[in-house]
Amino acid sequence: MTPAVFLDRDGTLMRDVDYCGDPQDVDLLPGVRELLGKLKAAGYKLIVITNQSGIGRGYFTHDQYKAVEAELDRQLGGAIDATYYCPHLPDDGCKCRKPSPEMVLQAAREQDVDLARSFFIGDKQSDLECGRAAGVKTILVRTGYGRETDTTQADFVADDLPGVVSVIEREA
Ligand SMILES: [Mg+2]
Ligand SMILES: [Zn+2]
Repeated sequence: MTPAVFLDRDGTLMRDVDYCGDPQDVDLLPGVRELLGKLKAAGYKLIVITNQSGIGRGYFTHDQYKAVEAELDRQLGGAIDATYYCPHLPDDGCKCRKPSPEMVLQAAREQDVDLARSFFIGDKQSDLECGRAAGVKTILVRTGYGRETDTTQADFVADDLPGVVSVIEREA
C-alpha cells in the first residue's frame, strides 16, 4: 500500500471558474506543478476528487467534462494517477458527492492506498469533511474559496501550495 494525496480540483489545482466545461478555461494555480512534482518524488499517489454538478445541472456533458480533465492532465504532464468525479446534484441523494468520503474510499480500494498516511488538500469545508470522514489528514489551502472557509475541520492550514509542501514534509 502507498500513501496518497487526494486533491480537490477547482480552486485547489486550477482557478475556480464556476462549472468548467471548456478545456480553454483550465488555468493552473501558481505552484501546482512544483507541488505535484515534490509529492510524487516523495512517493505519494496523486488522486483528484472532484464534485462536478455542472453535469447534473445540464451545464456540460460527461464528454465535455472529460475534455477538461484531459486538458488538466496534459498541463500537469501526466502527474495525476487517477481522478474520481461526482456528476450529481446536491439534492440527488447520491453516495459519492463530497462531503461524502465515498470517492476517497473507492479510490483507496482501487489504487491500494494507505489512508492513515494520506492527505486531502482542498479549499472548501466539504473537502475537509470528506477527508476527515475517510480518515486522512486534511489541509485547507487558502486559495479559491479557502479564504472564507472555516478552519475547524482542517488538521492544517496553508496559505498557498508551497505552504502545503511544507506541511506534508513536516507531518509525513
Ligand atoms: Mg474547490
Ligand atoms: Zn454523486
